[in-house]
Amino acid sequence: MTRLTGVDGADALAILGPDETALVRELDRTFAGWGLAAGASEISAPPLYPVGDLEKFDVYTNFPHLALVAGPLVTGEHAGKPVGGRFGAADLREAAYGLPHATCFGVYLYHEGTRVGRSTVVTLVNRCFRNEDHYGGLRRLAAFQMREIVALGTYEHTQRVIGEFTERIGEFGAALGLRLDKEAAVDPFFAAEGPRALLQRLAPVKHEFQHGGLAIASVNTHRNFFGERCDIRLGDTGEHAYTGCVAFGLERWLTVLTDLHDGDVRAALDAVVAVAERAS
Ligand code: ATP
Ligand code: ZN
Ligand code: MG
Repeated sequence: MTRLTGVDGADALAILGPDETALVRELDRTFAGWGLAAGASEISAPPLYPVGDLEKFDVYTNFPHLALVAGPLVTGEHAGKPVGGRFGAADLREAAYGLPHATCFGVYLYHEGTRVGRSTVVTLVNRCFRNEDHYGGLRRLAAFQMREIVALGTYEHTQRVIGEFTERIGEFGAALGLRLDKEAAVDPFFAAEGPRALLQRLAPVKHEFQHGGLAIASVNTHRNFFGERCDIRLGDTGEHAYTGCVAFGLERWLTVLTDLHDGDVRAALDAVVAVAERAS
């Protein structure tokens, strides 16, 4: 792996080598396979969105500290160059694109204004971007890959999918010899900001699967927040759809499995392949 020095020398970005890439691909294939086996359709989303779309999810009200945005540069006579590794505000034009901090936004935007079945499942992998207050290599990156399995439909369906994957993640961890603690989590942001309208409406219910205190996956219940914001309705009753998601941080799985195998990425890959074969 090659570490790229990010802004202010932070250990925020990495280029994965061939073995690490193979392990990440294998993990992603495994998680996607679980989704497909549960009836998911797979979609592909761009790595950035119009800020107006992300704003529908209150991203810039509730997570402004995590947000990264992008826009074109001033060109012509007033064009600037990076100074000290960065462009200044005067070099930039309006930032109309937002880099998402979660993968599942693509699912809600894809289904915007449509009707879905009562037990819909969708999966996708995407790059996620976060302006974290500190970075830590593969454990905490500015840009990372997140596979998600997203349930849309009735509340009961979302809870069934979350329950099923909670069990699956536990079994997978056990088969790999990876200790996982399931912890109820509150997004620290919500706690810090106190009760908010979003919190009341969204009533986030989140559980993390942690290895040594590091969350490598989470399951999240959103009630009908995204269904309302994107006007996604149930095909039969016309009610707003409920949603829930299962998220896997692929670089975090890579790093904890590599550590478990004393730094031997190929041994970690062999272990994942063996568990996947046994399960199929
Ligand atoms: P943490 O509490 O460690 O900041 P989080 O609660 O912000 O994690 P989620 O929003 O649930 O994380 O994101 C889903 C998954 O994405 C996490 O379980 C983790 O595996 C991964 N993840 C989150 N932030 C990062 C990051 N900065 N770098 C790499 N992976 C990340
Ligand atoms: Zn999600
Ligand atoms: Mg976080």
